Amino acid sequence: MTIAQALAAAAALGLERLDAQLLLLHALGRAHSERAWLLAHDTNLLAPDAHARYLRLCERRAGGEPLAYLTGRKEFFGLELDVDARVLVPRADTETLVEWALEILGPQATVVDLGTGSGAIALALKKHRPGARVEAVDQSAAALEVAAANARALALDVVFRQASWLAGATPKYNLIVSNPPYVAAADPHLAALSHEPLSALAAGPDGLADIRAIVAQAPAHLAPGGWLLLEHGWDQAEAARGLLAATGFHQVATRRDLAGIERCSGGKWLELG
Ligand code: GLN
Repeated sequence: MTIAQALAAAAALGLERLDAQLLLLHALGRAHSERAWLLAHDTNLLAPDAHARYLRLCERRAGGEPLAYLTGRKEFFGLELDVDARVLVPRADTETLVEWALEILGPQATVVDLGTGSGAIALALKKHRPGARVEAVDQSAAALEVAAANARALALDVVFRQASWLAGATPKYNLIVSNPPYVAAADPHLAALSHEPLSALAAGPDGLADIRAIVAQAPAHLAPGGWLLLEHGWDQAEAARGLLAATGFHQVATRRDLAGIERCSGGKWLELG
């Protein structure tokens, strides 16, 4: 089978062309950046072992496994992260949260990322604020293994801790950030995410259970003038702003992601918690 035929076979399985190209490069042991190589060599024959690897990957993709789990890699905010089924796949939507956090984060600030998963947010912040003290918390020991391995591979000094949200946290943070689970438990959208950890996605009947917990815990752990920034679902901005304001946060605001969806809300804490 030629490269052109292999890509056509993936299309017949319903795969997007870009996914098929990236899986083929992966099966061939080539970098993701080599899509032009595929186009230039589309009459090359695939070796039987590469062909078999590729078809298996295509079948798994057709079965709904995220591309990032099949290649084991995901780019986030310019960082190459290793990911697998122990962690949620970092989404481009979450870069909105990182951009907002970087506007707030001073060079020597103290920040914590709650529910860090692959470490995406914490590592992006440390990369851009090397002088900041960056902590990352997750309840899942398995997720922390993935995050710590990413930190080692990227030589970024992030302090990891296993905990539920702010339980046991001692510092007063200048910034608390989180992309918590926020999908309602009965949301039909969860079916499409069944390969990812449910504990990273679902949050009670209205999807706000974890956001409520974090907003309630944050004031006691923020330095005066510190900020809490949270990612949330497309229809949760008003509820998130309401929770922040009712808890006593100031300058409560929402930011949109690149798709124009209200994606993060946050506020500033003025008093000592
Ligand atoms: N953005 C994800 C999705 O709906 C959910 C991530 C989360 O719950 N934090 O696909």
